[in-house]
Formats: sequence, structure tokens, C-alpha cells
Amino acid sequence: MTMSKQLLAAGLFALSVTACQQKDQDTPQRTTFFDKSGMDTTVLPGNDFFSFANGNWVKTTKIPDDQTGWGSFYSLYDENQLKTKAILEEAAKADAKKGSVEQKVGDFYASGMDTATIDKLGYEPLKSELAKIDALTDYKQVLAYLAADESNRGGELFGFYIGADDRQSSINRINFGQAGLSLPEKDYYTKTDEPTQKIRSAFVAYIAKLFTLIGVDSTTAKTKAQGILEFETALAKSHKAPADLRDPVANYNKLAVADLTRQMPNLNWRQFMDNMGLKRIDTVLVGQPGYYQALDKQLPATPVSVLKDRLVFDLLDRNAGLLSKPFEQASFEFNGKTLYGQPQQPERWKRIANQVDGSLGEALGELWVKKYFPPDAKERMLTLVNNLQKVYRERIEKLDWMSPETKKVALIKLDRFTKKIGYPDKWKDYSDVEVNRTDYFGNVQSARKHHYKEEFDKINQPVDRSEWGMTPPTVNAYANPTNNEIVFPAGILQFPFFDKDADDAINYGGIGMVIGHEMTHLFDDQGRQYDPNGNLRDWWTKQDAERFKAKVKPVVDQYGNYTVLNNLRLNGQLTLGENLADLGGLTLAYQAFKLTEQGKSDETIDGFTPDQRFFLGFAQVWRVKIRDETQRVLVSVDPHSPAKFRVNGPLTNFEPFYKAFDVKPGQKLYKPEVAQAKVW
Ligand SMILES: [Zn+2]
Repeated sequence: MTMSKQLLAAGLFALSVTACQQKDQDTPQRTTFFDKSGMDTTVLPGNDFFSFANGNWVKTTKIPDDQTGWGSFYSLYDENQLKTKAILEEAAKADAKKGSVEQKVGDFYASGMDTATIDKLGYEPLKSELAKIDALTDYKQVLAYLAADESNRGGELFGFYIGADDRQSSINRINFGQAGLSLPEKDYYTKTDEPTQKIRSAFVAYIAKLFTLIGVDSTTAKTKAQGILEFETALAKSHKAPADLRDPVANYNKLAVADLTRQMPNLNWRQFMDNMGLKRIDTVLVGQPGYYQALDKQLPATPVSVLKDRLVFDLLDRNAGLLSKPFEQASFEFNGKTLYGQPQQPERWKRIANQVDGSLGEALGELWVKKYFPPDAKERMLTLVNNLQKVYRERIEKLDWMSPETKKVALIKLDRFTKKIGYPDKWKDYSDVEVNRTDYFGNVQSARKHHYKEEFDKINQPVDRSEWGMTPPTVNAYANPTNNEIVFPAGILQFPFFDKDADDAINYGGIGMVIGHEMTHLFDDQGRQYDPNGNLRDWWTKQDAERFKAKVKPVVDQYGNYTVLNNLRLNGQLTLGENLADLGGLTLAYQAFKLTEQGKSDETIDGFTPDQRFFLGFAQVWRVKIRDETQRVLVSVDPHSPAKFRVNGPLTNFEPFYKAFDVKPGQKLYKPEVAQAKVW
């Protein structure tokens, strides 16, 4: 799963979806904490503040060849990766006790770096699975194979995660969602514009390439590839569009396995669940039943040879990065170069470090925070979060559009939310993951099996609210409405988001805004539908809900009018939650900043007033440049707006910004106060 798919599936509202990994180019100056040389002062702040603050940087920065983009999130992630590398190399050298965290992490890394062994093996590690697929004779056997695969339960045709039941948030359920597509979303199968057609034909070529690498002749390989594309195209029709997945009520269906079995006899849900080892489970959640109904019809109607080809392709595609160079290269050509426009693959150590983070995240994380997370950072962050929480409380109390009844519950929800900072209180146990220094593939498989076992053990059990959904080195943050919590991994609590030596203007414009963003998620168009206990339940009066919808409508329209590339329009509905979080985050952070000593003073630094520095610091956090190809994918699937609009969008609606930079009627970001969107 890609990052965005994962977050979407788990219902987490993250701060950003940046494909990760990069090289240190030019980070802003650390003495003044704002990079003045990156500004373009020929641009009027009131016309385009993003460019005023970052224009020169945008002009002079070249995205590194091994990257999909560059800027704040990327360069910090890059620094974190260098730190991770130091840990991994040290652990790999140390003669650690078998079974210790150091041994697992170090040997895992060493096995991934051992390209001599990996290249010699070719696709040997997959041969037993390929033989199993080859022996299947009908779609029923295909289903049985998918369900029983210990390292990839349900295959790519069944998408699921284990997480809180939206309407009973203290209990975990298995949640099935739409799946079966290899391309980013349904429209990629039908759109006829040139870039999409190019992607589709490259996709077919990629599938064919993988088949030729296991000895299929090129003509047969092409036929197989075409069959797979057609199969996926048929399934794509049943998919909901990304924006339609954001409605938690419409995507909640609690169903008895017995009923599903009756409704979709070909999928035979009871049998499938039994084969997955879930005999005791008789109730499940299905986000998008329409997809499974389509799959139920599609499976028997598709030649079994095509279904088997699809399984083979999935197996190769999913594991290409663990195999010898030709497989890895083929995967990069499509998944990196074609889809995201990345000219070069990142260095191997970065890819392996990512894999260790994905496979043994909290083992690596434990070593990471011990070495790199200063103990006082947690305390400082907590103070910041508490300050913003206080401001939010005052703002809710003063809202003129919300009734006292709804306010009462809103305030309970606000007072009750959990703050997770840095890293989990208890680390996950990886004792059943076998790590062998010479078996990279086996190590990943063992971690995958561990993962499924860990997840399956949670089904129908109480939710462990102390669990984390991101690993410590991650440069991101999230809000989880079913836990009523906001979470900030150690990885993001660093410059340019946060620095203990920076002035408040910079920290509030940076991490302060991030905190406010996550808090607002708990009250955005999705988050607001969850009550103080994290249950999806309508706790709003009808009138307040109507007023909320009227308040957010201008935000949908505003962002829906922004365009990128050649007139590619943003989807105002898809990005609504994030845009509300950006607007709320800026508002809360600014108000909290105004309570600090610097916020009350008018002492300039570097020629800027405290307020100006706050806005410049904010704009610096979103200093990101992205490749066109990546941008194109993100516009269709990413709920976050492009960086430029994450700066200019909220500022358009923010009076204190007008004052700080003398924004006047006639300038592009100017809107009369009555037309400015204000929600929280
Ligand atoms: Zn967000």
C-alpha cells in the first residue's frame, strides 16, 4: 500500500503525503531560523505570499534526481534517514545478542545491503508461490489461495485493515474496503488525456516486463498484461472516487458474514473468512460493498488463466524491491519514473532503511529516540499543545454560529483529546520475527506474517488506545477521530517545524500551526461527526450541522477554483478536510502566538515584525517543490492541497495577515472581510 492508501484505509488524517527520502541540499539558515535569501521580494505579499516567502528558493532549487520533490518535509526526512543510517550501520556491525532489538534491526539492514546474495537468487524466493499459483484450476481455488497466504492475506483483491469500529470505537473490527487496482484510482483506467494514456501503456509494458523476467516469451507476456488491464478496468467501474471515500456514514456498513455469503455467493465470505483463519468472526465492516459485489460477478466471468496472471503479477510487483536488480529496476521504471517522474532510484541504503522502518518500525524507533530525541522536547511540545487547546476552547465558546447545546459537547471533546508526542510509551514486541543476516526476503516475509498475526489477534478485541499509527522517525503527524487523539512523531519535532532556540514566531508559525491543524481535524467535515468518545454519532443539532455546512461551502469553492499544471483543477471536496485543518491551524497558532511575549511586542528581527515572522515561518514550513508527474497523481488522490495553496489559501481568509503585509483591495489574495471563510 502507498502511504496515502494506508492512511485513507486506517481513517487517519495526516499532515502531508510526501513520498519520502532525499539528500541534503540547502536548508534554511539556522541562526535566524528564516531563510531570507529564499524570498522573492519582487512579488507582492498580497498577490502571492508563497512566492514572496519562497520564490527565490523555488527558482534556484533543483529537485534531486532521486526525488519526487524537495523542500521542508523532504529535507528533514533526509536528515532523519541519515540518522537512521548511523543506527543501522552501528547495529549491523555490533555483535548483538541473538533476538535483541539491535540484532534484528542490524541484521535486517545487513541482509538488505547484501546485493551479492540477493542478485544471485534472482526470483528464487518466489518460486514456491509461483508453483502454487500455477496449480490453481478455478476461481474458487484462487480465493482459497488468497485467503491462506500468510504473508499477504486476501491478496490485492481484498483490501482490509483492523481498526476501531467507527460506531463502537472501543472495539476493533476487520474493515474491508475497495481494492483490486494497481493504478492510483479508478479514473486512471478510463481517462483519455495524453498523460493518463501514457501511464496505462507503460503499465501494460511493466506487467509484460515482469513476466519476461520469469521466462515468459514477450508475445505471451503482452497478452497476459492486456488481460490484467482489462480485468482491473472492469473492477475499477465499481470503485468509489477518492472524494466519495471521505463520508464516514456512507462508507460504514456493518454486515453479518452470513448475509454477505448470501449476497455474494461466489465470494463465499464464510469460506473465505474461514480460510483466513477467522472462523470465530461473524460480523465485519465493509466500506464499499459495491466493489465486492462487482468482484463477486467478475471472478467467475474471468478466465482462470487471467486470474492466475493477476496473482503472478501481484506477487512479482509486491516483491520486486526484494529481488535481484532486474526486478527492482523494472519496478522503479514504472512505479518511480513513469508514475512519479523520479529520474533516479534513491541509493540502496535509503530503500533498505525504509524497509526496516516498515518491517520493524518500533524496534528501529526505540533505538532512534534513545539517540536522537531530547527528553525535554516532549515537555516543550506539551506546553505548546496545551496553549493551543486553551485558545481553541476560547474560540469555540465565542462562536456565533453554534448553539450552546452543541458547544457543550464540542468542549467536552476538545478537553478530552489525547496528546501523543514523540514515541509510544511501550514498544511493540517483535520476538516472533526471525531475522537472518543472509535472507532479506525471508526477513521481510517473517515481518509480514508477524504483522498479520498481530492485526488478526485484535479483531473483536478492545482497542489499545496507546498504540501508534506512525513510527518515530516519520516527518508527519495525524489525528485519529476514533481515539479522539492527535499524534506527533519525534521525526517532525525538529527544524523547520520546531527548534528550541528559535523565536516563538517561527515555532508557532511552524509546529504551532501543525498542532492546530491536527486539532482542527477532530472538528473538520469528517472529524466533527465523531463524539467525545470517538464514536461516529450525530451529536450536532440539525441547525448547527446546517450552519457548519454553509460555513465550509466557500472553502470547497475556493480550492475548487485553484489549478495546477495545465489547468488541472483541485477537487474542493477531496481536499476539504485538509483545507479546513490548514485554516483552523493557522488561526489557532496565530492566536496562541499573540499570547507570548514576542507576540505582544513589536521588536523586529532581520527587519521583520513578530507577526511578519510568524507568517514567513508558516510559509517556510510549506516550502515544497514537486515534480509534475507526482503532482498529477497527487491531485487525483491526495486529500492535501499543493504547498502553494496550503499557504495562500488560508491567508486569503485571514485578516491579521492582511494587516501584517498591508494587503489591499485589488491584490490577488484580498477578499473583503465578509467574503472570508471562517469556521473555527
Ligand atoms: Zn491533515
